Amino acid sequence: LTILAFSVHNRSVLTPKAISTVENPEGIKIQWEDGSEQVLSFKTLRLECPCALCKGERTPFDPQVLPMAPRLTEQSIQAQEMFKVGTYAIGFRWGDGHDSGIYTFEYLKDLS
Ligand SMILES: [Zn+2]
Repeated sequence: LTILAFSVHNRSVLTPKAISTVENPEGIKIQWEDGSEQVLSFKTLRLECPCALCKGERTPFDPQVLPMAPRLTEQSIQAQEMFKVGTYAIGFRWGDGHDSGIYTFEYLKDLS
């Protein structure tokens, strides 16, 4: 996995200076513009994938049902690739080929 460095044009606390990978737990470390650091495991990131498929579109009739949520395997939580999405988010390609989640910086900051 590559280390992503961000050139900061809009200096906000929600802009990472850099995102690097860490080994224990396997995941990423985000260095935020405000000086704080955040570590997120790949497992957490995969479980919290914000795409419509994973989060499911809960219907008002049966809010418990998430019919489309794919089953996760060991492979599912292996990050194959990390990439930037515009200037506001990052994405991952997972071991099972899933790559439609767009993790905005705001979303990442709220995960812990
Ligand atoms: Zn997803």
